[in-house]
Amino acid sequence: MNKDCKPNQSIKCSVSNCAYHCQDAQYCGLPTIQIGTHEANPTQAECTDCQSFRMK
Ligand code: SF4
Repeated sequence: MNKDCKPNQSIKCSVSNCAYHCQDAQYCGLPTIQIGTHEANPTQAECTDCQSFRMK
């Protein structure tokens, strides 16, 4: 658990495998994140990615 993580109440996240995830709270600890896509023509939520993700 990353106890130094300061939950950003504006960024809810459930990706607990990410180094920036605040484990107790379901929030990201970064002040801002980059969202992108791996698709040429994204059509649904699954087409988008958090590009700020880092494996913990
Ligand atoms: S960087 Fe992205 S994946 Fe990681 S905790 Fe923040 S929002 Fe979630």
